[in-house]
Amino acid sequence: DDSYTLVKDGTLTVVAELGFAPFEYMNDQTGDPEGFDVDVINAVAEKMGLQCEYLPNQKFDTLVPLIKQGGKADVSIAAITITDEREESVDFSEPYLDSNQAIVALKGSTETEATLNDASKQVVCQGGTTGNDWITENLPNATCVPVDDVTAALTGVQTGLYNAMVVDLPVAKYMLTNSFSDLDIIEEIATGEQYGIAISKDNPNLTKAVNKALEDMKSDGTMDSIETKWFGS
Ligand code: GLN
Repeated sequence: DDSYTLVKDGTLTVVAELGFAPFEYMNDQTGDPEGFDVDVINAVAEKMGLQCEYLPNQKFDTLVPLIKQGGKADVSIAAITITDEREESVDFSEPYLDSNQAIVALKGSTETEATLNDASKQVVCQGGTTGNDWITENLPNATCVPVDDVTAALTGVQTGLYNAMVVDLPVAKYMLTNSFSDLDIIEEIATGEQYGIAISKDNPNLTKAVNKALEDMKSDGTMDSIETKWFGS
């Protein structure tokens, strides 16, 4: 169908949860979203000859439902792990980054995976994430506390409100280096996750175009330079 348009008005609209540095966060000075994913989706849009526009911040567990429901945003890029369950609701682009989980606790804490698996232990996570699933499956006796905001969760670990947090490893590394120096990664969990861009099942041509853009970005060095910018060489 020649009249088929990938997106409206030449603008790729993006929805995300903007509290997940270094992938996406608000630059308080400029009021603009910034991060690895922001650079990726801007480059994708540029390859497609589109403008890129971020919609207002949304909670993480509403992103896949928002794309599924359609009409609001064309894509969601938010360090979203490709899972079978989510693939029932939305399509994903080809993977653009590998990831794992981390358990974070206070520096000097004696907690381990084993000690945390106890009803007296509060283990916090961002609600609806793969970290949330990991706690449910692997620490069935712990008290799992899903919250919306990762910074609030880490602050809670800092103040002793929670015994630990389970969160994506690259986010743990970045946030602990930049703002939570009194916290430590007590365990890395090799979940072997892959991030993908979520797109409505009603827009398969958009998924194809995004995949083409990602492929071009991998072969022309754009992806490498974005990775180097955010994660070093
Ligand atoms: N990668 C994790 C997931 O997809 C966490 C993503 C996030 O919190 N932005 O569930």
